[in-house]
Amino acid sequence: MTASSLPRVAANGASIPPIGLGTWQLQGDVLAASIQAAADAGYRHFDTAPRYENEAGVGAALRASGLARDEYFLTTKVWHTELTADAFRRSAERSVQVLGVGPVDLLLIHWPNPAVPLAETIGALCQARRDGLARHIGVSNFSASRLDHAVALADEPLVANQCEHHPRLDQSALIAACRRHGIALVGYAPIGSGNLLDDPALATLAARHGKTPAQVVLRWHVQQGTVAIPRSSNPGRVAQNIDIADFALDAADMAAVSALARPDGRIFSPAWVETWE
Ligand code: NAP
Repeated sequence: MTASSLPRVAANGASIPPIGLGTWQLQGDVLAASIQAAADAGYRHFDTAPRYENEAGVGAALRASGLARDEYFLTTKVWHTELTADAFRRSAERSVQVLGVGPVDLLLIHWPNPAVPLAETIGALCQARRDGLARHIGVSNFSASRLDHAVALADEPLVANQCEHHPRLDQSALIAACRRHGIALVGYAPIGSGNLLDDPALATLAARHGKTPAQVVLRWHVQQGTVAIPRSSNPGRVAQNIDIADFALDAADMAAVSALARPDGRIFSPAWVETWE
């Protein structure tokens, strides 16, 4: 069983590989080596953003990877300070230029910004799709109610909401909200930024399946029909994180992983977020 046998996630016309490579904090030779290891291991989905200041390196590594452009799904974003219509367009155009691989597959609003009317930003996002900068569009860090608002404003389909998702953070309500709109939940920090992997419950499951705690958690994501974008600077761990097609969690295993949720499980709560539902 290879990575290609993992079921892709269908979302309003998009078909998203369920495991993607996160690239936040990866730069230079380390970034290039991670992307090459990912391509070799069967990743067909890569996640970047202007904020990560690595789009040029991501584009160069993808061009050198041996993958044809239509073989992989590439996501970038627009930072929350760039959400007026003009700034949004400039950011998206610059990303496409810097990446140098043609239109991106998915363009996201990186974080909401209540200081800019959502209608203006959603209008710019939809226009970016119509202008051919992105094949698909979506949002990131949108609560359920903000997602409802975004969908109501959009005249192009939204396909993804990229949000923090891992066993310590119960996102079942947000996943249900995404599903009501046919939108994929793309989970960032999917292995809890690495910090939950020493949990004894995961060690028990990992030992039983002959896999690692990270593989158990990533399998838990995939079996929920959500997408996960783990990051690693280590080529061996990059390969490990997609080597999850040869085992399955049963209902009790899935429940044991979900039971790790905690009220204080959220990792990312930057100053510009006013509230989470
Ligand atoms: P993550 O993928 O949950 O965790 C990354 C950490 O886990 C790294 O320290 C890595 O260390 C370690 N790790 C990776 N694989 C491992 C394994 N098999 N065993 C043990 N440790 C392992 O966290 P993340 O980078 O915060 O999130 C993933 C991606 O989501 C980001 O890179 C970015 O693309 C995206 N993201 C988006 C947003 C947003 O606002 N939309 C916010 C945060 C992140 P090593 O490098 O040493 O392997």
